[in-house]
Amino acid sequence: MVYRIRMIPKETVDRIFDTARIDEVVGEFVALKKRGSSMLGLCPFHNEKTPSFNVSAARGIYKCFGCGKGGNSINFVMEHEHITYPEALRWLAKKYNIEIAEEEQSSEQQAKDNERESLFLVSGFAQKHYTKNLHETEEGKAIGLSYFQERGFRPDIIEKFQLGYSPDTWKNLTDAALTAGYKLPYLVGAGLTIQSEEDKEKYFDRFKGRIIFPVHNPSGRVIAFGGRTLKSDKKIAKYINSPETAIYHKSNVLYGLYFAKKQIIAEDICYLVEGYTDVTSMHQAGIENVVASSGTSLTVEQIRLIRRYTNNITILYDGDPAGIKASFRGIDLILEEGMNVRVLLFPDNDDPDSYSKKVSSDALKQFIQSNTKDFIRFKTELLSAEVGNDPIKKAGLIREIVASIALIPDAITRSVFVKDCSRILDIEEQTLLNELNKFRKTNYNKKQTGEARTKTISPNEDGFVPDLTARAEEKVSLDQQTRTEYQEREIIRLLLSYGSQMLLARGEDETGVEIEIKVSFADFMLNELEQDTATFEHAIYEKIFVEFKRHAENGLVPDLNYFVNFPVHEISQTAIDLVSIPYQLSDWEKHAIYVTTESMELRSAALHASNSLKLRSVELMISEYRKEIRELEEKKEFENMMIVLSKLKGLEDAKKHFSGLLGRVVIR
Ligand code: ATP
Ligand code: MN
Repeated sequence: MVYRIRMIPKETVDRIFDTARIDEVVGEFVALKKRGSSMLGLCPFHNEKTPSFNVSAARGIYKCFGCGKGGNSINFVMEHEHITYPEALRWLAKKYNIEIAEEEQSSEQQAKDNERESLFLVSGFAQKHYTKNLHETEEGKAIGLSYFQERGFRPDIIEKFQLGYSPDTWKNLTDAALTAGYKLPYLVGAGLTIQSEEDKEKYFDRFKGRIIFPVHNPSGRVIAFGGRTLKSDKKIAKYINSPETAIYHKSNVLYGLYFAKKQIIAEDICYLVEGYTDVTSMHQAGIENVVASSGTSLTVEQIRLIRRYTNNITILYDGDPAGIKASFRGIDLILEEGMNVRVLLFPDNDDPDSYSKKVSSDALKQFIQSNTKDFIRFKTELLSAEVGNDPIKKAGLIREIVASIALIPDAITRSVFVKDCSRILDIEEQTLLNELNKFRKTNYNKKQTGEARTKTISPNEDGFVPDLTARAEEKVSLDQQTRTEYQEREIIRLLLSYGSQMLLARGEDETGVEIEIKVSFADFMLNELEQDTATFEHAIYEKIFVEFKRHAENGLVPDLNYFVNFPVHEISQTAIDLVSIPYQLSDWEKHAIYVTTESMELRSAALHASNSLKLRSVELMISEYRKEIRELEEKKEFENMMIVLSKLKGLEDAKKHFSGLLGRVVIR
């Protein structure tokens, strides 16, 4: 087993583990609401509309009951950011200001094995370089900074968004980066430098003579850039953007999300605008829950990114034909994701950027407040001008709106909109419903497979997640393999959950008189299991058991955290699965039914679990002996058969014994 922690000192790793709080880490990406003793949100790892993603701060773990993903803080960061173990440690270290000794000479060197990390580093360097150019060079100040000032960018906004300037020369950034020790392939890989195919010696900066908007990922690292030219030459593209790279996938990125996510959660709504300047201007006007799909038309991935923080999106586009078209497409995509969408078009020739510069911050907020429309009203008002009294055109309009309603996954929401639509357009509800059903049918046929795949299990009304394991166990309780697994898992679960709790057991004093003694649950259970040989069949439980026993026998009972944070993925994963299903989810502290009983009666829980395991071992042996007896009988080896029969008798007694202890009825 190769552990990658070697790269970062053990003490630092421990500190990171100790410091990182799962609710804070997950909370960076997912809006969490308190539910009993844990927290609940929409799973960032699969597409869901009802939350089944549980976070237990007390246990330091997360678990999704829809897709099954689970883990600790490190696993979460790895999975979510698609990064490796050491990268995740660095990510957390940065978040919690924990210094990693190695990172002091922060250069590309130390991450040379790691392309992605190198791209992050080189992008970070470029951002700092561009920003420095803007503020500290003559050209930057004279051209870049004065442009920002003319456009009314406030200094604090320029600083917050880390805006920059790239001078109008060929290699300013690339040469500075090479001098600082960054390697050309990473500059090319990050999309900053363009290298000639024919002559590798020839290279130049992608962004030259432009003001620079760095693009951040949700955790604040720079992953790409947008550059706006300051020339009025129509032949030059006004904006150019980084190409797709290993750390930048346009369709999965929203500009401004890093600066917006806190406020999106706080206000439970997200404003969607077109571009960089719209985002920065809105911030400047005091509206911070705003993101842009800059450079691409809105994608499903981007909508799902927003859905981690809120269910409500308001589209703010300018009222030109392109803006209207984009808002129509956006509406349908958002509805389809089961989210609420509202729309506000700015007056023709104005976008959020220009409008916000014309009016006061309060007036802007007021304008948004009073002009935002739900999508039916929006579409109706927009289209009815061209429809007039033409009945055919009106039918077209109705169909257009019904088509959008048909996309909404939730039946109740659909029917509310049908009622609205009936009222606004003065059409019989039934007529709309008939039309709607036609659309539903086609949509359903189109996506049946997709929907079936994304079905998730959701909490019931109390917010409790159904006990999946229990139900699963019922169904397959006859399956020996599953039963065995269940028993072994139960033993491990009890050991990890209650190992160090003390209980009273019967023992003997030096003179052989029976007394009550205090022992740890771990000791009690290990002793029980040892009295009759019980063995684990599943390698993973065996591994955990051996590890547990090794420590417990030295008087150090490992607790849950020990296994949850175990550096072998398979083991930490199992520990997480064990403890997160479903006990802490059922709000047991309040209702105190099952688990409290279990805590109070640890002894019987231990006995039950170990006796079950023993019974199972005995049953297996019995069936093997029976088979052997049949074979010996066929071969007419009666003497041997008698020997086995007598062994079998002993086992049958043992079976009765354990069954009796378990309160189970033995028929034969
Ligand atoms: P102007 O001063 O002419 O209004 P602008 O910088 O405001 O220029 P617009 O053409 O108004 O740019 O575009 C509005 C927004 O759309 C900008 O904030 C920009 O972020 C975004 N945008 C426009 N074109 C692109 C593009 N090719 N890639 C990415 N974003 C773009
Ligand atoms: Mn503009």
